[in-house]
Amino acid sequence: MKALQYRTVGAAPEVVTVPDPEPGPGQVLLKVTAAGVCHSDIAVMSWPAENFPYPLPLTLGHEGVGTVAALGAGVTGLSEGDAVAVYGPWGCGTCAKCAEGKENYCLRAAELGIMPPGLGSPGSMAEYMIVDDPRHLVPLEGLDPVAAVPLTDAGLTPYHAIKRSLPKLVAGSTAVVIGTGGLGHVAIQLLRAMTPARVVALDVTEHKLELARAVGAHDAVLSDAQAAGKVRDLTSGTGAQAVFDFVGVEPTVRTAAAVAGVEADVAIVGIGGAALPVGFGLLPFEVSVTAPYWGTRAELMEVLALARSGAVSVHTETFSLDDAPLAYERLHAGTINGRAVILP
Ligand code: NAD
Ligand code: ZN
Ligand code: ZN
Repeated sequence: MKALQYRTVGAAPEVVTVPDPEPGPGQVLLKVTAAGVCHSDIAVMSWPAENFPYPLPLTLGHEGVGTVAALGAGVTGLSEGDAVAVYGPWGCGTCAKCAEGKENYCLRAAELGIMPPGLGSPGSMAEYMIVDDPRHLVPLEGLDPVAAVPLTDAGLTPYHAIKRSLPKLVAGSTAVVIGTGGLGHVAIQLLRAMTPARVVALDVTEHKLELARAVGAHDAVLSDAQAAGKVRDLTSGTGAQAVFDFVGVEPTVRTAAAVAGVEADVAIVGIGGAALPVGFGLLPFEVSVTAPYWGTRAELMEVLALARSGAVSVHTETFSLDDAPLAYERLHAGTINGRAVILP
């Protein structure tokens, strides 16, 4: 089968032919119908060889949907042809966090060598993929594969971050979304669907801000040195109750800190690597800063249910598997509006 692989540290990913995978006991073989292109893959492909954490070659793609093509020995409860979404942050299934469905925070994944598809294990940018356990599949129940695939990360990750701030996002509150790309433009829609908060979006180009407005942002502000002042003015000086930074670089975490109000939540979701110092007098009183990762199994079901209700619609641009390297180039250049989706 064809697959998009990251083969050499520092080189572009390549479309190659690899053997068709076969499901082992307890595993499920999917015929991939759509695979999402996440900015995290670009971060992965920028890591140096010395501490590259995954085995190479690596078939990319940690957002995947497909139809069940074959069941490994002992798998029950699924049938060939079932349309499913892949829950990507695989865990052990039995530790205390996994027992809560929080496999994204599995306590034993590192020790047991469990790695998500596309982030260590073979991913979704291939004609077929192996899913290690049927519990990592959620039925699509009528959702379109292209529209649904970004929900497995670009939907689930902001959903998880937003859900923990819901008590603060009451009527009259403000939520700030920094970076309105794949994750951010879904975050805006989730905030509108789940809260009465005013949503203020920040990005670096007018083109991105247009999408932010189109998907429901009340205000869209260019992300520059004046942005924090503008956002504070929009909140009559009090600042926001929740800030979601989908970039995580020095200038954006500084903006996040500057727009946070007293007792605000600041979620640094982007993996730009910048730090936000927390300490008395450094931030408004009782601001909490978190760096959340992906989401829980139950939350993926909730996000898919929200999409079925019509509350979320992801803006997508599709590419063939042969053109997948181009999708990464375009994402790197900042010219994807919404989410790029590969059709293997
Ligand atoms: P994306 O490229 O689709 O979106 C990023 C957006 O940020 C773009 O619209 C870009 O124009 C904008 N941006 C860049 N610099 C900016 C600045 N200074 N101010 C405001 N906006 C700026 O990327 P994505 O796939 O949505 O991923 C977003 C980030 O989240 C990435 O860092 C990715 O690695 C990370 N991520 C984290 C998790 C997690 O679990 N924590 C999960 C998925 C992705
Ligand atoms: Zn991702
Ligand atoms: Zn676990």
